[in-house]
Amino acid sequence: MILSNVSKRYGETVALNGIDLTLEEGKITAVLGESGAGKTTLLRILAGLLPCDGEIDGKSGQTPMRREGCSYLFQDCMLLPNLTAEKNCKFVLPKEEWGKIGGMLARVGLGGRENALPHELSGGEKQRVAIARAFLFPHDLLLMDEPFSSLDLAIKRSLISLVYELWEEKKNTVVFVTHDVREAALLAHRAIVLKHGKIALDLPIGAPFPRKFLSPPEEETLLMRALL
Ligand code: ADP
Repeated sequence: MILSNVSKRYGETVALNGIDLTLEEGKITAVLGESGAGKTTLLRILAGLLPCDGEIDGKSGQTPMRREGCSYLFQDCMLLPNLTAEKNCKFVLPKEEWGKIGGMLARVGLGGRENALPHELSGGEKQRVAIARAFLFPHDLLLMDEPFSSLDLAIKRSLISLVYELWEEKKNTVVFVTHDVREAALLAHRAIVLKHGKIALDLPIGAPFPRKFLSPPEEETLLMRALL
């Protein structure tokens, strides 16, 4: 996927300013940046949910088409409060995928919790439902907006490992938004830091997978500096 000179304004606010970006297929890219840097806007443009200036895959961004084969994990899970974990999955999946739901919920550690309602699930469990649903949805591009935020470190680490394992089976293209350099260092092949709507740093992360430890300290230091 190739973005050429992509910009996005909301009235007077410039959310993205001349982004040139080529996403390599089958890799995991982390998009970092402080609040307001344009991360969610970029994700929505990748999903074809927002019009923008510039070109995407050689076509004008002004008439976006919801991208087929794209699974989107929204910030705050977006589970429907009156539906069980299983029904939350059914709700967004084509019927022919329903048979996979039980196995996937077990896979993400929710075996036996299929009939729990969102308010009966912890924050980490809700996130597991959202991750299961996002991976179940047939996709070649998976976009995740802060999938690990507001979780404590141990749960965060276990979910990052889980996402890595699920990704490894199909090796689809993944782009995820985060504030946290450590999440990028643990999960991404590449980290992009947005600052005021521009790419301030575009860094390959070379440490081999699975990463039990953080990537080399110099990569983290570079990411940290770019965020400051
Ligand atoms: P991030 O995800 O990095 O926090 P966003 O992409 O959400 O950044 O927002 C980038 C900028 O665009 C911010 O200044 C934000 O206030 C503004 N913005 C985002 N969405 C809208 C909107 N729907 N209407 C007006 N301004 C918006």
